[in-house]
Amino acid sequence: MADKRCFYDVLGVPRNANDEQLKKAYRSLAMKYHPDRNVGDEEAAVQFKEVAEAYAVLSEPDKRNVYDRYGHAGLNGMGMPDFNSSQSIFDMFGDLLGGIFGGGRQRGPRPGQDLGYELEINLLEAARGCKKSINIAREENCSECGGQGCRRGTRPAKCRQCDGHGAVLVSQGFFRIQQTCRACGGSGAIITDPCTSCNGRGRVSARRSIEVTIPAGAYNGLQFVMRGEGEAGAPGAARGDLICQIRVREHDFFKRDGDHLICQVPVTFSQAALGGDIQVPTLDGPITHTLRAGMQSGEYVRIQGKGMPNLRSQRKGDLVVVIAVETPRSLTKRQEELFRELAEIDHKQVSPQRKSFFAKLKGLFTTEEPEEKVG
Ligand SMILES: [Zn+2]
Ligand SMILES: [Zn+2]
Repeated sequence: MADKRCFYDVLGVPRNANDEQLKKAYRSLAMKYHPDRNVGDEEAAVQFKEVAEAYAVLSEPDKRNVYDRYGHAGLNGMGMPDFNSSQSIFDMFGDLLGGIFGGGRQRGPRPGQDLGYELEINLLEAARGCKKSINIAREENCSECGGQGCRRGTRPAKCRQCDGHGAVLVSQGFFRIQQTCRACGGSGAIITDPCTSCNGRGRVSARRSIEVTIPAGAYNGLQFVMRGEGEAGAPGAARGDLICQIRVREHDFFKRDGDHLICQVPVTFSQAALGGDIQVPTLDGPITHTLRAGMQSGEYVRIQGKGMPNLRSQRKGDLVVVIAVETPRSLTKRQEELFRELAEIDHKQVSPQRKSFFAKLKGLFTTEEPEEKVG
């Protein structure tokens, strides 16, 4: 054998190429030299083998390591797979090559495609669960011909190229490979008298209304699969699936944190200082909560069981109420009198909270003693 080319050169990637780059390079080269595209071209068959070998080594960390250090010689005796038939290459990398060609290993009628749908709901619907009717366009088997594609009363003729097998054997140098029959596209049949409803396609586009049940506790990004609600496949093949992805609209009041809900409730100075009953919004309507005296702005209270239900356990999370103490923007004369009176008392009597606050400040500004001042 002539001098073996460097595997990195074969794939056309730099020596520090990552998995993604390798995969991409291999896919595009394998497509270029694929035997289905280069029937009878021996040069392409050799290249196809060469890129498969390069990829087999570089995509395996152990082998790549050895190759990087000792080159081709290092790989002797490392148990390299057999690259002498393209079927074995398909067996190794079928997942990478699959879907591009009808050839390779897939046989039989083509299954239907999956469909995706983004379904938007609001927070209340997510909390309680709901049913939604969605309208999608999808491929259905033509009702006129039952998906066969031929005029009613006629039958497709057996493909003469492949004798109805859908595949043909092709010799390529030392390869003997099976290929999808080009004449019939792998179905083994030829439509001589096409159905007029679908022009021989066998499928028509239709709008369908589908009822979707969304479970309580659904969250943003939740996906669920509705089996068989995707596009129709060729006759006899499975339908695709419909994959629904949930988007939960943001709520004006409530933010979601897993199964917990967070909301901010404004209270007045006097409520914060003295405590008392406040109204707290929940998804089931407002409830009364008794606030303890001395709440600070930003402190929160946790109300158990008023959050979102967990999708799996259906156990409800908590409602976290963040207290926002509101400073009055305008005062009546009487209110102002009271605040001024309060200020005078504050001046004489510094509360422990303030003491610790100023003590902390002192630690931050060691050079200057902060002055206590009440405005
Ligand atoms: Zn039809
Ligand atoms: Zn055929």
